[in-house]
Amino acid sequence: MKHLTPQIVKEKCVLMRVDFNVDIDQSGQIIDDFRIQRTLPTIKFLKEKSAEKIILISHLGQPKKNDFWTEKFTLKPITDYLEKILKEKIYFCSLKGFKEIKAAIDKSEKGAIWLLENIRYHEGENTNDENFAKQLSQLGDIYINEAFSVSHRQAASLCAITEFLPSYPGLLFQEEIEHLNKIIKNSEPPTVMILGGAKMTDKIPVIEKFFNLVNFILIGGAIANTILKSWNFEIGNSLFEEEMIEKAKNLGSDKAELILPGDFLVLTKKQQKNKRELGKIEKEDTILDIGPVAASTFQRIISQARTIFWNGPMGRIEDERFSEGTKIIIEAILSNAKARTLIGGGDTLMSIKLLKPEYRIPACAGRQNTENRFFSTGGGAMLKYLAGENLPALRALENSKL
Ligand code: ADP
Ligand code: MG
Repeated sequence: MKHLTPQIVKEKCVLMRVDFNVDIDQSGQIIDDFRIQRTLPTIKFLKEKSAEKIILISHLGQPKKNDFWTEKFTLKPITDYLEKILKEKIYFCSLKGFKEIKAAIDKSEKGAIWLLENIRYHEGENTNDENFAKQLSQLGDIYINEAFSVSHRQAASLCAITEFLPSYPGLLFQEEIEHLNKIIKNSEPPTVMILGGAKMTDKIPVIEKFFNLVNFILIGGAIANTILKSWNFEIGNSLFEEEMIEKAKNLGSDKAELILPGDFLVLTKKQQKNKRELGKIEKEDTILDIGPVAASTFQRIISQARTIFWNGPMGRIEDERFSEGTKIIIEAILSNAKARTLIGGGDTLMSIKLLKPEYRIPACAGRQNTENRFFSTGGGAMLKYLAGENLPALRALENSKL
């Protein structure tokens, strides 16, 4: 893969795909800005090395067709936020047509930074449409992918675009790949993978790959529900994914030990919080956290690990009553100073911020190296890369012929 150098960006209009898909609360406040913070060094690099224009592309959420070009998924609040933390003028572009966008950008001063409106407002984005990518490519002279966390998706601004412009990984993208390679190469046993969260379609297919990579796989969150359901346990009204049941059913091997919670915190029919053991879950219960026995088993295994991978909260962290399991896991991970640790995923990082606010996730690479800990911007992308699966956007960069 090619490297980004000062010569490459000098005097060039740089089209850079970033991942500013961050959670924004009702009042428009950004809940966790880690992904934005991590792209700042690259934006500053482009500015310092005299890029002609910097055009940022991002998605936000998963807009449906009737949300297109509405306020619902607009990147405008991110523009204001970026302007504040970067202390630079950021031009926001909500125009639809590429000719108009280009004309507006051309008129701006040298070194101007632009953020285009949600790229998913264009139909061609999610279908990886070549025609759309070609139009998009006409805005710039070179393309940079600085969105490692969405590199497992096939989309025009991540994949097809590389057919039309000289394409490079961003500084952060490169750093993410290097760190993942390093931890795969140097991982020492006991190796523990902790998986939770809700995005099962991304996660269940990779679990089987981890049986060869780690010694223990600890599972919480809604993923555990799906697996337990596939093994015919009652999970009541809990969140699970029907399409993943078949895949989940056959999970297991004699290599790594797969450990699922044996107790839970549930919300009962009467909307009360209750402890329940596996096998005693009632039809109207909703599992929203792992129970204290499971949390302490997970804690013990994590404390003895030499390599730790973590993605996905153990429960509904947004609700204080169901965040205890995740909090115990966070404390176990952060207090194991001997282990090499890799933590990734939007909600996973947010859970640290929420439940352990005194711990400051370092946003600069140097400190991360010394601490033996790496915080990846990617959840699904990180897991897929660890599992040795293809990341379409990474492959597109590698195959780019220009
Ligand atoms: P990440 O962004 O770190 O990759 P996910 O997006 O997969 O993680 O999952 C995070 C979400 O999973 C959180 O919003 C949390 O509330 C939810 N979650 C975790 N456990 C459960 C559960 N048992 N039931 C419902 N939602 C859950
Ligand atoms: Mg998430």
